[in-house]
Order: sequence, then structure tokens, then C-alpha cells
Amino acid sequence: MSSCGVLVVAGTHGNEVNAPWLLQQWQANPDLIDTAGLAVQKVIGNPEALRRRCRYVDRDLNRCFLPEQLEKGAPGLEFQRAGELLRLHGPSGEQPCAVAIDLHSTTAAMGNSLVVYGRRPADLALAALVQGALGLPIYLHEADAQQTGFLVESWPCGLVIEVGPVPQGLLNARVVEQTRLGLETCLRALDQADQGLARLPDALVVHRHLGSRDLPKAENGEPQALVHPELQGRDWQDISSTQAMFRAADGTDRGEAWVEGEIPVFVNEAAYAEKSIAFSLTRREVWPVQPTWLPALQQLVSAA
Ligand SMILES: [Zn+2]
Repeated sequence: MSSCGVLVVAGTHGNEVNAPWLLQQWQANPDLIDTAGLAVQKVIGNPEALRRRCRYVDRDLNRCFLPEQLEKGAPGLEFQRAGELLRLHGPSGEQPCAVAIDLHSTTAAMGNSLVVYGRRPADLALAALVQGALGLPIYLHEADAQQTGFLVESWPCGLVIEVGPVPQGLLNARVVEQTRLGLETCLRALDQADQGLARLPDALVVHRHLGSRDLPKAENGEPQALVHPELQGRDWQDISSTQAMFRAADGTDRGEAWVEGEIPVFVNEAAYAEKSIAFSLTRREVWPVQPTWLPALQQLVSAA
């Protein structure tokens, strides 16, 4: 990777503390993470939120990468920080980066996964390389007008590594180690793409986002039923069409019928309660790897 670097972001959400801890340890000990010889810029996404141990101060930073808002200087700490990160490390920033790897954690029982936004060929190539190496599931987020402005979308190529489950604000050695493994695998994949040594698998398995469901709520916003106990912890799993979504305090089932083939993710994710999301629904799809994907990634990582 001759001129453009790789941006590694931890603490985009200030209450996800494991990746920032790893990054700080790495800063003190440069040999801690094998960067495969790549030029890596490492930053804490939202230092003020991390200091306060809250997800954000004014607004979710990972919904602030909205070009129109940034152009007109939208107010608030996170919009300012998004603009600053782009000025420093954006594709035409002071220390330009072509690829952004954004490290997150989840409270949901999802284990580790990759999140891809949309269908950019370079993103799909990187995701396919990492899935090929680690076998991680991929949550493909697209076509959701309620949720936009994700950090990695502002770089030509970007990937989110989501590690869990771990409560917000809690350090956990396993989560740190898995974050490190995911990051090193990403960096190795980028280096192999740069050197022309990368080999994509034949197919990419994605869980394509279909939509989200909120708890049934009263007019005052209080939940009238909770995520069904038999749904709790069943992220990525096939769900029978007889499964109820929610259960009220008196034991009655609530919510619409489950559609066969819809697979839940982010079930009862703590961070999404404020977004009125009890869980999201996905469909598992197997996509043949396209011949355009790898060249798109190679072009980015080896751009002169
Ligand atoms: Zn996060």
C-alpha cells in the first residue's frame, strides 16, 4: 500500500471499551499487533464519549457521516468529530486512508461478526477474505432510511468488526483477544490484496438486513411486552414460524407472526433500545463472488 493507509478506529462508541483499551496498549507497544507492513493510522473515534463512558455526547457518531450535514457544519460534538476525522484521515485528508476498519462490540449474543454497508465491490472483497479466513457471519446493512451516516461509508473501503457479547463499559480479555484477531486478519487480507496474493472464496454468505422490530409500546413509550424468552440469545439462528416475537408480563404472546426464513440479529442489543429496535431481521443469502470485487480492492490498496 504505497501512499494510502489503513485507518483503524476504536471507541466510535464511548461505552464500547475493549477496542480502545487494545488500541491504547498497542500505542504503548507497537509490536502488539502485526500490521502486515501496512501504514496504519489508529484513532479513538469519540474520545470525549470514551472519557465519559457513554455511547455519545450529543448524537451517535456512527450516524454522523452524512456529507450534507457535515458540509453545512451541523452542530454538536459528534458532527464536529466526524468532520475532523475526515479532515485528518479521510481519503483526501492530511494522512489519507483508503480503508477504514471500525472496531465495535455488542451486548447481543451474536459472537463475532462483520458488518458491511451496501454492496461496494471493495467492501465485499475484504469481507469475503476475512470470512474465508475466520468463518465469521456477515451482517449486510442496506436500504434502511432510518439508519444512515455510518463511519466506514465515508472511506472508499470499510468494514466493521463487531465482537461480543460483552456488557457496555466492561473490559474482557476474550473480547480484546478476538478484536485483535479480527483486526490482524483484516490487515493481512489487505496486504495480500496489495501483493496480488489474495484468493477469494467462491461464495460470500451474507445475512441481508430486511428491517427491524420494536417492542410493543404504550402511548407513553413504556414497553407492553418484552423480547420473547425463546427468542432471546437466538441471533443468527433459524426461527420456526410458530415462534412469537414478544411476551407480556401475564404470559401472553404478542407481535406479528414470524416469517419462515427470517433470521434475527442484535436481539435485545442494549445500544438499540433508544433507537426503538428490539431486534433486526435478516435473510441468509449465498452470493457467488464476482470477478470485479478483488480488482476493486486491489486498486484501492495499491493506488499510487
Ligand atoms: Zn458500536
